[in-house]
Amino acid sequence: MTAKKIATTAVRAGINSDKHHGAVVAPIHLSSTYSLKGFNEKRQFDYSRTGNPTRATFGQAIAELEQGKVGIVTSTGMSAVHLICQLLSTDDLVVIPHDCYGGSFRLFTHLAKRDQFKLIVVDQNDEAALVKALGEKPKLVLVETPSNPLLRLVDIEKLAKACHEVGALVAVDNTFLSPVLQQPLLLGADIVFHSTTKYINGHSDVVGGVLVTKEQELGEKLAWWANCIGITGSAFDSFLALRGLKTLPVRIKQHQINANAVANFLTEHSAIEKVYFPGLADHPGHELAKRQQSDFGAMMSFEIKGGVAAVKTLFDNLELFTLAQSLGGVESLISHPSTMTHAGMEITAQLEAGITQSLVRLSVGIEDIDDILSDLNHGLNASQSIVNNN
Ligand code: PLP
Repeated sequence: MTAKKIATTAVRAGINSDKHHGAVVAPIHLSSTYSLKGFNEKRQFDYSRTGNPTRATFGQAIAELEQGKVGIVTSTGMSAVHLICQLLSTDDLVVIPHDCYGGSFRLFTHLAKRDQFKLIVVDQNDEAALVKALGEKPKLVLVETPSNPLLRLVDIEKLAKACHEVGALVAVDNTFLSPVLQQPLLLGADIVFHSTTKYINGHSDVVGGVLVTKEQELGEKLAWWANCIGITGSAFDSFLALRGLKTLPVRIKQHQINANAVANFLTEHSAIEKVYFPGLADHPGHELAKRQQSDFGAMMSFEIKGGVAAVKTLFDNLELFTLAQSLGGVESLISHPSTMTHAGMEITAQLEAGITQSLVRLSVGIEDIDDILSDLNHGLNASQSIVNNN
């Protein structure tokens, strides 16, 4: 059979994996340990921290979707990021973007403070700063595109080429798009990782992570570390995430339709100062998004007129959008990055990254678009009546 398309790979993941009973859905293996066939005669699995059939099925499915060699399922998205840090020694240099997810920023800056490695934080769209950072010969360059929460894009192919010229590994956080919309390994990255908590599981009932390597050897090294430090994901979470994965391509289609409509609505609403969404023609990454992604995704952020008071009034007047940290679930969520997802960054670092008090982030869900727009319209109008009364 020729190479399967993404939707087929997602739906078929785990089917035919039960050789004993022919269960159509991959069974969940909760056993923590597995018997040996006899003295020194191991089966494929012996202990679930090291390897578990349900987790292996999920890891393999993501590796296939990302077109990589080894998929490692971790307990959280952050533990996938932390796993990559195991590749680094005290004298190694890491380059991270100034506007990555607040938890990643917190992890790298705090580990660097404890001398686990050296760190340069850079705006990866600032060509001169990036060239200077690469001149320092980093071992690892972390990329997050589109970035959280400002949806800035980085040209993965161009950056990976420049990184490889100086011998740096490139690891891309693909959480915001999922392999349905972007496949960083095909663009030259060495590692791609996800918080599966988000789109991959898609139902806001699992916290998990996954990391995929382009090469077998690097994958085996990281799998060794994942077992060594004990950050592999649970069988139950793997089962749920595998279940969620099957509908990822159709969920993404609907997320996308709704997100495009929301972005257009926001650009025309008088309460909005600025919308950050790569699907808009005036977004600085619009052309790159068209080349590097297969669509624009369903995450966006905007600056509201009236500062924090307007943000609070908006939140108080929404019924459908839930005020919550996460993203990528079927339900629409709204958040205030400065006090929520990016609270782990000092205010000065937030401002340097462009995260203001007026910035609001949306994870557009798959509810009926008429209800989504009517809710936003109601909330935004209320926010401005406060502004107008002052
Ligand atoms: N990467 C991105 C882009 C995220 O948004 C998050 C969480 O919000 C993470 C990584 C960390 O994932 P987790 O919360 O599953 O540890």
